[in-house]
Amino acid sequence: MSAELTKYKGVWVFIEQMEGKGAPVSWELLGEGRKLADKLDTYLAGILLGDNVDNLAQEAFAYGADKVFLVASPVLKHYRTQPYAEAIVNLSKKHMPEVILMGATTMGRDLSGTVATKLGTGLTADCTQLDVEEESRYLLQSRPAFGGNIMATIICRHRRPQMATVRPRIMDMPQYEEGRQGELIREDLSLAEEDVAVKVVDYIKEKGKAVYLDKAEIIVAGGRGLGSKENFRLIEQLAEVLGGTVGASRAAVEAGWISADYQVGQTGTTVRPKVYFAIGISGAIQHLVGMQTSDVIVAVNKDPDASIFKVATFGIQGDMFQVLPAMIEQFKKQ
Ligand code: FAD
Repeated sequence: MSAELTKYKGVWVFIEQMEGKGAPVSWELLGEGRKLADKLDTYLAGILLGDNVDNLAQEAFAYGADKVFLVASPVLKHYRTQPYAEAIVNLSKKHMPEVILMGATTMGRDLSGTVATKLGTGLTADCTQLDVEEESRYLLQSRPAFGGNIMATIICRHRRPQMATVRPRIMDMPQYEEGRQGELIREDLSLAEEDVAVKVVDYIKEKGKAVYLDKAEIIVAGGRGLGSKENFRLIEQLAEVLGGTVGASRAAVEAGWISADYQVGQTGTTVRPKVYFAIGISGAIQHLVGMQTSDVIVAVNKDPDASIFKVATFGIQGDMFQVLPAMIEQFKKQ
């Protein structure tokens, strides 16, 4: 490693917040960042941007951060790419972190690309696994590639910081250590509202029933095996009696049986419920990467060789049109 690169120290996690509430993926990344920082024998820091968000620094310490870099300004009250990226680029040039992690959320995806470009470094999006090679200090950034057919491990050889985004619910939530202390570093970057090209006029909350697949504890997901929109009702019925949320494979979404908001997988949502029912889903790799870390997986499929059985905790080989009504009946009684 060149002498220039050895100057970079510390694992940083962007603390995503909206209206003063931290996104769970930020805490998950602090948990993961802790492991990486320990292996690299360096510190773990949170980057906190916003207005009146000091309370989140305490949460970051409780989730394992050694330091928090806080930039407080009315300009940062609502997320906008330009001032947020500017703040992180400034902090990064001053303190030279070795690694920066962000959630692969709408905000994190937007911000990470801009920050990486401005810093002239690499970025691996949507990682599903992170590790470090201790000797070379490379961040090993693994993610599905070539349509999910292989897992690629990517390194950023010549530039720092090494940047990656990780989807929500991929990493474990760390322990919350009430009262754990850290170093709060306030940075005044003198951001001016007139320098920001985009003005926020109003925030309008989306109407209608939001789909919170990534937070669901029970998901009943249906696939192409259902055969029709009418049959897909069986999935909704089972979800209803279990108090769960409906999910779907891409095939079911493309068939028009359910909206894309419900899609689980590589191009849908990554989920990690306590129980995941996969009904009439074959278990293509692009589906598996979005649900295989669920605590318990129950698969119903008539094909004994279906790949879904390889990740299932309980596999029911049979015709779903017999199995599903029996399940609904039984769960109703309980
Ligand atoms: P199929 O593979 O057709 O499986 C249907 C299953 O139903 C079969 O196993 C069959 O045995 C079973 N079945 C049929 N009848 C019955 C019955 N009566 N009783 C019991 N079982 C029955 N897919 C996703 O899901 N999510 C993604 O995010 C995603 N992203 C993708 C991204 C890319 C770049 C690409 C190339 C593909 C992506 N896909 C995604 C598509 C993926 O490759 C598969 O095509 C898709 O997951 C298949 O959906 P399925 O399992 O419902 O359908």
